[in-house]
Amino acid sequence: MERSLEIFDRLVRGLLADEAQNPVAEYIPSANLYDRLDLKLQKDGISAAELEASLKDLIFTTPRTATNAFFNQLFGGRQERAILGDLLSVILNNSMYTYKAAGPQIGVEKVIIREICDMIGWDEGSDGTLAPGGSMTNFMGLLMARDAYNETTRHAGVHQRMTVYTSTESHYSTPKNAAFAGIGRDNVRQIDVDAKGRMDMTALRQMIETDISKGLHPIMINCTAGTTVLGAFDDIRAASHIAKEFGLWLHVDGAYCGSVLLSERYKHLIDGVELVNSFTLNAHKMLGTPLSCSLIVVKDKSHLHNSFSNDASYLYQTDHDEFNLGKMSLQCGRRNDALKLWVLWKSVGTSGLEQIVDKQFALADVARTYVREHPDYTDFSVEDSVSICFNYKNIPAQSLCTSLYEESELLVGYGSFNDDTFIRLVTINATNEKADILKFFKRLEAFVAERPELLQ
Ligand SMILES: *Cc1c(COP(=O)(O)O)cnc(C)c1O
Repeated sequence: MERSLEIFDRLVRGLLADEAQNPVAEYIPSANLYDRLDLKLQKDGISAAELEASLKDLIFTTPRTATNAFFNQLFGGRQERAILGDLLSVILNNSMYTYKAAGPQIGVEKVIIREICDMIGWDEGSDGTLAPGGSMTNFMGLLMARDAYNETTRHAGVHQRMTVYTSTESHYSTPKNAAFAGIGRDNVRQIDVDAKGRMDMTALRQMIETDISKGLHPIMINCTAGTTVLGAFDDIRAASHIAKEFGLWLHVDGAYCGSVLLSERYKHLIDGVELVNSFTLNAHKMLGTPLSCSLIVVKDKSHLHNSFSNDASYLYQTDHDEFNLGKMSLQCGRRNDALKLWVLWKSVGTSGLEQIVDKQFALADVARTYVREHPDYTDFSVEDSVSICFNYKNIPAQSLCTSLYEESELLVGYGSFNDDTFIRLVTINATNEKADILKFFKRLEAFVAERPELLQ
């Protein structure tokens, strides 16, 4: 192990030093990948020195997601304490299904889940777990909704035409998960949104009524806390009234921005969250832990057991179910994704997590103000969002983002809302400062100034 740790140390130090000089990695067109890098596997092993050289080449040419030039997806930056925790979980290599196999790490996970439930305002009847990403925690929410609607489903399968309600702006995991769950993509109703990207509650109610009148079986409303493109927040409280009226499960997909729960200043964006049945949040998005760290909490923990428990005498041999977390897991073997969040939380405190969230909104305000004050920009953003949407000099967003990428200048993506397509800058990296955000715009402007062909 000693030699590998030394290699690790050298590689990481080298990478960090290089990142400081070159925030964007060399762009390798996918067509040239196997020519540019030696990725082949061969029969015989190689020496430590050869391995190190090969790894160096590989990691130095890998996209850099922690620098002040990466704004491409809903994660970015490095929270070093969280990385420390994640590295330790790799070394420890526990599996989170039983107390026997994970010991105190089970407590680490339970403490996090308890804190989150307390913040929502739920009592001891609530609980939660982690799964590999928001798509999967959303899947768990959907499965619980399905089984709660008809408890025979778990054994007999789906034999009713169930329907699910989510907005047109919501994440693609809802229709995908509906297919996995035997509900079917065609039975996901994509409800229109208002001008700010929030689900239209009148349209939602009408759709549910129409489906009921046709003899269909509505089971769940999915609200989004931070839509993937605009970063909009659905009105959870309004949805909860509708869910209650029709007896539906209410799930909140807070993968992107559910962490506003930790902020006194921004938790009003998820007002009413205590009324929902299940809620997911990705700590690897707003809180900046390494991928992946996705939590789901449920108001009534019996649903977790009802949908996910299985007896297995080869696995559950000691301790009470409370500490054998495999009984409410989507998985069997399960990586310890809790430790990275726990180490970060322990280190910076709840107030430190709050500052991480607030910083992102502060950076978003810097960016939004810049866009609004500079006439070369067209603004498409909504308020209270960490996604800043704009176009520059009316250059088509797709071609500008692609040029920036191919010329190793900046990694930023684009999105669409209604008939507009625009650049989407996300201020999710709380290790950035105001100067980094302003630098983004300066780099973009200088890039365009050197390429008049983009303007045509
Ligand atoms: C990112 C995201 C997801 C998916 O989360 P993964 O961890 O990438 O699987 C789901 N919903 C929303 C709103 C998201 O932004």
